Amino acid sequence: MLLIRCPYCRMERPELEFRYGGEAHITRPAEASAMSDAEWADFLYMRANPKGVHVERWRHIHGCGRFFNSVRDTVSDRILATYKPGEPRPDPDALARGDR
Ligand SMILES: [Zn+2]
Repeated sequence: MLLIRCPYCRMERPELEFRYGGEAHITRPAEASAMSDAEWADFLYMRANPKGVHVERWRHIHGCGRFFNSVRDTVSDRILATYKPGEPRPDPDALARGDR
């Protein structure tokens, strides 16, 4: 089971308290009406699925209820860092090397 640190509650809690929210940093297009159907489908459905470091959203559903971002290694299933939306994204390569 994953232990996830909520950046708002500042506690490590079991994964069961959280809900996965998909890839982080997906921005809705400003000119959605000008997009083709294929471009819109890509925005809605196409996501990265890396083997390695991945940036994703989580929600502390059975805690404070807030959304936050995390950097997770999909190979080891280890959360390398968590941070609030609007905070700078940690350098995934530095985290993978163990730099904090
Ligand atoms: Zn929380």
